[in-house]
Amino acid sequence: MSTSKSVLDWNILDIQGAVRSGDLSAVEICQARLDHIANHDHIYNAMTDVFQADALEQAATVDRLSQSEKSGRPLLGVPITIKDVICSRGQKTTAASRILKEFRPPYDATVVKHLKQAGAIIIGKTNCDEFAMGSSTEHSAYGSTKNPWDTERSPGGSSGGAAAAVAAQFAPVSIGTDTGGSIRQPAAFCGVVGLKPTYGRVSRYGLLAFASSFDQIGPLTNSVEDAALILQVLAGVDQADATSVSQPVPDYSATLKSDIRGKRIGVPRTMFAHADASIDHDIIRAYDASLDIFTAAGAELVDITLPHAAHAVPTYYLVAPAEASSNLARYDGVRYGLRAPHDEATDANNDLAAMYNRTRDSGFGSEVKRRIMLGTYALSAGYYDAYYGKAQQVRSLIRLDYENVFNGDNGTAVDVVVMPTTPTTAFKLGEYEEDPLTMYLGDIFTVSANLTGLPALSIPSGLTSQQLPIGLQLIGRAFHEDVLLNLAHIYEQATPWHEKRPLLKT
Ligand code: GLN
Repeated sequence: MSTSKSVLDWNILDIQGAVRSGDLSAVEICQARLDHIANHDHIYNAMTDVFQADALEQAATVDRLSQSEKSGRPLLGVPITIKDVICSRGQKTTAASRILKEFRPPYDATVVKHLKQAGAIIIGKTNCDEFAMGSSTEHSAYGSTKNPWDTERSPGGSSGGAAAAVAAQFAPVSIGTDTGGSIRQPAAFCGVVGLKPTYGRVSRYGLLAFASSFDQIGPLTNSVEDAALILQVLAGVDQADATSVSQPVPDYSATLKSDIRGKRIGVPRTMFAHADASIDHDIIRAYDASLDIFTAAGAELVDITLPHAAHAVPTYYLVAPAEASSNLARYDGVRYGLRAPHDEATDANNDLAAMYNRTRDSGFGSEVKRRIMLGTYALSAGYYDAYYGKAQQVRSLIRLDYENVFNGDNGTAVDVVVMPTTPTTAFKLGEYEEDPLTMYLGDIFTVSANLTGLPALSIPSGLTSQQLPIGLQLIGRAFHEDVLLNLAHIYEQATPWHEKRPLLKT
């Protein structure tokens, strides 16, 4: 444990050590975070709910554990926030949507169960785009979250509240979800680490589904070491999620510091030429500097091409909304959350179908409606082959691109592909209000990892002259999160970026 740091700077091992040794109780640590949130969240709006009483009660339970029980819990006393699309028993879980207002699930998501068993304290839920559809956290029934580095800017999205909460030290760890970049892009915009595990590595049971063949749950943290400790707790097969995979879970902390000499880093520079969204110069400069860090540590750069990368965004924005339109059919006013009241004005409008229509019309926001319409259109008879079917074929080509670079037998195989996380730094709130397409194009670097299911991580890699964070993305082979974490940790130790904190307003 470090005594020179403020308790708000403590990482997982600091907290776990203090609670085990009795230097500070879990209740005191939890209270410090709750006070900090109470003093600042009126500015940032990162939280949709704070579980003041529940959290302190959980912390008191942790403090009462016997010494041997304490030593078996890797996240002992660690305050954690979870994105408002992940179910926790009896606590509001709304997907930042009016349609799930006051919905309280009767069960914990598998990840929440794992976190609690590991001794973590769930202190609240974080803001996000409605049903995780978006890149800015502006499409939330709770209003936008503000970026702690500049309150006129977006924290990114959809896990914008999660990233802001870690950047503003509300908690050392936030759990987010990533369907097309929603952990990595906000992590990049807020200067924190964000990891999207391989599809199937972490159970999705208890996650309100957006696009089921893309969604993954993962951590946002201040350091790669903390991301490794969290993944250790989240990863593993789950009988309640048939898409989770029973691949052995390696010891992620054990290989964190391994030598990276000889590791082969794929550099897809041609991709930057066809990136539809133009890339900031600061981001290219930070990228080049990052490559130098890897070569100085003994890694080798390999030029690669991903020929279908330019088609990733249109492919994603056909398949993901198609899955969303089907997943969101369940919100009909009968089973969960909101039900539009009886229409007093006219009796003619009060049959079942009219109630569905009124509920969905008043319950969903405009971006969710846009996705449902796009998805329904792409799936409809007559258009299915041309849109959804074609997009699935392109998805296979993108998968093949990555298979070639990771398994190519002509001496080109690489261990990891490295590219910027985003083409720009955090944009102004409202900047894309009239132009959703340009916001979609900003997902150019993140969506491929979801289309292919591959693990990907974003790590702080610079600050612009305006003090806005820049993110670097590492994409790895399926189930090789250990390699990503190792490379990212070595990078982090050689750079100061993960230690930078925004100056908070009160
Ligand atoms: N920005 C992407 C979208 O709007 C990704 C969202 C996500 O990963 N949940 O769909």
